[in-house]
Amino acid sequence: MTKKQFQAESKRLLDMMIHSIYSQKEIFLRELISNSSDAIDKIYYKALTDEQLSFDKESYYIKVVPNKEERTLRIIDTGIGMTEEELESNLGTIAKSGSLAFKKENESKDGHDIIGQFGVGFYAAFMVADVVTVISKALGSDVAYKWESEGADGYTIVPTEKDSVGTEIILKMKENTEDENYDEYLEEYRLKSIIKKYSDFIRYPIKMDVTGS
Ligand code: ADP
Ligand code: MG
Repeated sequence: MTKKQFQAESKRLLDMMIHSIYSQKEIFLRELISNSSDAIDKIYYKALTDEQLSFDKESYYIKVVPNKEERTLRIIDTGIGMTEEELESNLGTIAKSGSLAFKKENESKDGHDIIGQFGVGFYAAFMVADVVTVISKALGSDVAYKWESEGADGYTIVPTEKDSVGTEIILKMKENTEDENYDEYLEEYRLKSIIKKYSDFIRYPIKMDVTGS
């Protein structure tokens, strides 16, 4: 399978994330939950103008699923999802968001508290995971796609199966080192406290489903 390369600017940000010695790695969860919330907003606003689509509040949520056995953390949402093209353009390039401002204003600084201030978006996942998988099915589509990356050497996109519309992010957590403990992000109490700290204002329910042991 051929690997696609990240756009140059994305790659730089990605490299920073992968090699980050930033202590607030926990903000990765804030970034992913905020993306999920944005994705649900999109379906919500669509429903306001589209009679075919009804927004049933119960069916829209974000779910965080740690699995200690697999050392994975999944963030699942019932948002608008992404098509193959959107996976490509949204996750392979940095078109907008805080990221660009981040780069421009802080080229000379070491970038530490800036990460906290601006939010670096999706790539923050690479601070804690060495494989990031995104499985997504877009609204109105009956096919799903899987985007996967182990970091700076590129990503792949292949067709996959997914029952419902929305996105599932699977983080394969990094191995612990002497200085960093990534297992803590698989602990229910730790995840709950991170969510409380950064995502308390999110308008949709954030559920947790603890599997494995
Ligand atoms: P930003 O949120 O500032 O646009 P991100 O790097 O966080 O930047 O995300 C990039 C883009 O990827 C988003 O704008 C969105 O289009 C897409 N995206 C990321 N996560 C999701 C998701 N869970 N559902 C749908 N689209 C997503
Ligand atoms: Mg974002």
